[in-house]
Amino acid sequence: MQNELAQKKGSMENQPEKLNVPDDYSRTITSLIKKNHEFLSSHQEIRWYFVWNDDISIYGASTSIGLAINKKAAITSIQEGNKLELEYFLMHEIRHCFQKEVIDDYKKTGKSVVDSAIVEQWIKEKSHYQSAKNPDGSVNEAYFAQDCEMDAYAYSFAIMKYKYGDKANGLYLPESYKTSQEFRIIIDGWAKTFRQSRKR
Ligand SMILES: [Zn+2]
Repeated sequence: MQNELAQKKGSMENQPEKLNVPDDYSRTITSLIKKNHEFLSSHQEIRWYFVWNDDISIYGASTSIGLAINKKAAITSIQEGNKLELEYFLMHEIRHCFQKEVIDDYKKTGKSVVDSAIVEQWIKEKSHYQSAKNPDGSVNEAYFAQDCEMDAYAYSFAIMKYKYGDKANGLYLPESYKTSQEFRIIIDGWAKTFRQSRKR
C-alpha cells in the first residue's frame, strides 16, 4: 500500500463530515491523540475532522479549520490491522499542524520556538508546495525534498521508534530518506529529546 501523503489541498478541503458524530473510528483517533500527548508541544490543541477521499494514499492535511483526516485511509489501516500506520500518519499530520502554528506566530510576532531560518524555509515551501504525486500519478521526488516533509516524517518516525522499537521498522519511509544523513540526524535528535523528557 502506498502511503505518501499528498495533501492535495483542494481535495481535502471538502465538506467536513458531520462534525464530531462519535463512532468507533473517531474514538480511535481521539484516543491516539490523547495517548501521544507527551509528544506534542505543550500549548498544542488538536482540532480535527474526517473527510472522505477514495485515494487512501492521502491520509490527511492541515487546513484552515484544523486537521482533515481521510476517513477511508484511517478505516483501511484499522481493517488491515495496521494501527501503527494510522498512528504514524496521524503524528505526521499533527506535526504539519505544529508547523502551521509556528509559521502563523512567526508572521505575527517575528518570533518562533523553532530556528527562524527553518521557519522561513517552511514558509517558502508552503507558498509553492510540491504535491506527493505528479499529474500522471507517479511519485514526485520534489515532494520529499521539502524540509517541511522531512521534518514531519522524522518527527513521526522518531515517536514510533521510541514507542515501538523494531516494530516501527515496517513503517513507510521514502527511499531517499533511508540513506539520508540529514534525516538520520533529525531522528537521533528526537530520540535524545524523548529520552531526556522521560527522565524528568
Ligand atoms: Zn506531509
